[in-house]
Formats: sequence, structure tokens, C-alpha cells
Amino acid sequence: MEMFKMTADEITALDPELAIIPIGSIEQHGAHLPIMTDWAIATELGRRVAEKMGAFLLPAFPVSTCREHMGKKGSVWMAPTTFYQMMHDVIMSLKDQGFKRVGLIIAHGGVFIANPLVRDLNAKYNPELQVAFVTPDTVNVRSITETPGLHADESETSQILAIAPETVHMEKARDCDPDVPRSYLNYGSIFRATPSGVWGYPTKATAEKGEKILAISADTIVEEFNRAFDYMSKKEKFGYSDF
Ligand SMILES: [Zn+2]
Repeated sequence: MEMFKMTADEITALDPELAIIPIGSIEQHGAHLPIMTDWAIATELGRRVAEKMGAFLLPAFPVSTCREHMGKKGSVWMAPTTFYQMMHDVIMSLKDQGFKRVGLIIAHGGVFIANPLVRDLNAKYNPELQVAFVTPDTVNVRSITETPGLHADESETSQILAIAPETVHMEKARDCDPDVPRSYLNYGSIFRATPSGVWGYPTKATAEKGEKILAISADTIVEEFNRAFDYMSKKEKFGYSDF
């Protein structure tokens, strides 16, 4: 059972040292997927990973940073600096009550402020606190998908077909492979690169692929968290630094 469904007394008795924080985004996902897509994937991966690792699980945070999706109603964001401060405070509240390790599962590719956040926390608080994070780029699902993609693509569409098929409008799915690199989202909203808001080939999606992608992703995230925590645990002092 997800630990956020338990009482505080039950969680205190279990005394977990690892907390998992899934992070989504509320943003446009083309004409065929709901705006909850990244949040729904974060929720599902958080549930699977926390169960495998016996971890305390927070409900997935819905809103993060997605100004690159400006242009249609329904995308919601906060400033990157707000996200940094908010997540910093959340992780400090976990540290204060004795959590030693925190794993962030970021299901939206645009939370770039997570890099300095995680690096600063580990530099400041190792070895008492270890923070690891994964993004969609951590998980290579190309063994399952037939096509490349970035957003509302074969992979995301397959996963939502597995998680919440009633919210998917496959008849409206349109493929688009933009002729600019992903980094050009720094220069203009996604609608400049792809008028449909889709970056990839959603018409290749199936629920079966989605279930496989979710299973592989959960296993890969557990492996990656264990590898990162193991690496941090083995560090010895270097000069004046524990980092
Ligand atoms: Zn997405």
C-alpha cells in the first residue's frame, strides 16, 4: 500500500529511511492526450518504485515548470526559482524527521532546475542526506518504441493508454517530427516547432507497449537510485569536503 494512505503512527512504526517524490507537470499534450499526462505517469511510476524499494511515498506533485508550452489554455507552471525553493523546503522537512535518502522521479523533461537543486543539496548535506533524481531521459525505452519522440509521442501515449485509456483520443493523434533540436524550446514555445503540440509518433502507441514501458521504467529507476545512493555512500572525505 502507498504510505501516503497510512496513518502517521503506522509510518513511524515502519520508520522508512527512503522517501520517493514523484513530480509531474500539467501541460498540453496535443489533441489526443490529457493535460494530466506527466502527472499520471509520475503517479504510476512513484507507486511502482516505492513498492519495490519499501519507501515512503508522497503523492505526485502536479505542477512544475513548463513555460515552453505557453499558447493554449490548460498548461500551468511556476517559476523555476519557486520550484527550487519549494522542493528544497519539502526535502528539508523530510531530513528533519530522519529520512536519509530522497529519490525524485521527474516525469516531465523540462524541470531543468532539478540539476542545481540536487547538486546543492548533496554538496551541503552529504553524508547525512542523499538525494538522487531521474528524468524521462534516464529511462531508455527505445527497445519498446519503434519511433523517436519527445512529447505526447509513442512512449507517453502508450503509457496513458495503459494507465487511463478513457482519457485518450487516438482518432485525433497526429505524428510530427520537428526540424529543430529540442534545445530550441529555449527560443520559442513548442507550438513554433510543432503546431499540433506533439513531438513524435503517437499513432504507433499501444497499451501493451505502455505497460512494458512502465515496467522497464520502474526497474530502471530502482537500479539507478540504488547505484546513485551506493556511489554516495562509498565516498570518503576529500580534503575538507564530504561531497
Ligand atoms: Zn509529457
